[in-house]
Amino acid sequence: MNNKYFLLMVILLLAVCWPGPLAAEKPETTIPIFCYHHILPKSDNYLSITPQQFEEQLKFIRDNNYTPISLNRFNLFLEGKTLLPPKPVILTFDDGNYSVYQYGFPLLKKYRFPGVFFVNTERVGVTPEQMNWEQLRELVRYGNEVQSHGHTHDFMYPRPGETHPAFLKRMDKELNYSAQILAQMLSKPVRFLAYPYGWYNKEVIDLAVKYGYRAMLTVNGGPNISSSSPYTLRRWVVYQNDRMSDFIHQLESLNLPLQAIAPSQGETVSAHQVYFKVQIPDLPRKWLRFYFKMRSEISPAKVNYQNLVSESPFKLEKEFNSVLLQVQDAEGNWYAGSWWFYYKK
Ligand SMILES: [Zn+2]
Repeated sequence: MNNKYFLLMVILLLAVCWPGPLAAEKPETTIPIFCYHHILPKSDNYLSITPQQFEEQLKFIRDNNYTPISLNRFNLFLEGKTLLPPKPVILTFDDGNYSVYQYGFPLLKKYRFPGVFFVNTERVGVTPEQMNWEQLRELVRYGNEVQSHGHTHDFMYPRPGETHPAFLKRMDKELNYSAQILAQMLSKPVRFLAYPYGWYNKEVIDLAVKYGYRAMLTVNGGPNISSSSPYTLRRWVVYQNDRMSDFIHQLESLNLPLQAIAPSQGETVSAHQVYFKVQIPDLPRKWLRFYFKMRSEISPAKVNYQNLVSESPFKLEKEFNSVLLQVQDAEGNWYAGSWWFYYKK
């Protein structure tokens, strides 16, 4: 073989084997978590969906080879102790509502999917609209997890004018007492917490960890990834007005890394309305559609040089504000990222 041929062979081999820009990027595993409240045939509650809507979602999960997993398995994965099946998803149900037992549980059994139920220990069995301990034990017998949503569903956040000792006492009841009651009544360890209203701060995280919780869930939208903090896991809240296409975009959403966020993550602002601003990678070559969401308010994002800026300002009412950015690329893939900040009147 002369030198020319040898060189040609090397170039050909390199072209075939070189993993560089020719190889397709493998998207990282995302773990979407959904948050349901009520499942009722007829309701004007904005957090209630019908059994038909719920079954349509379960059917989509099954037909598209997603695997609902337990929160315990996901937490072991985050701790590096287990692997996940392809296309994992987690189904959670907040507030211990009887409607979920009546209309949701039979469907979970039909599809053999596990659920995670976050209950307020003070409310269990108090009214017919709440599940009782016998029903919660039945859920556990079928492989579901029943975990803490606090004792009374109070904010896990200092109240205006609340002293620090009073706050600590209140958190002891919400975080510690609720876990003790659950462990005693269900004979299962309590490891997970869903923050009521999604509110929390650094001290609440530290207290929850001190009381033995291993993972905590917010209502900030977007997917979770292997490097997500177990103390602020994201969840998609399921709303009555959501369409099936919204559910599918949420289920399939890839993680969108956000940079140069304004207002910044965890910042306290005092203006009563704000514009949102972020940077995302590869702007604007790859992307097609962008919009910001805060609760039910939506504003399309304008592309301003390397920034995305909300087209209209958002009015602030509550102290804890979670912002979601959803983006679609030219190939039709959906991405989501979220952050939160405080508003002090
Ligand atoms: Zn709740």
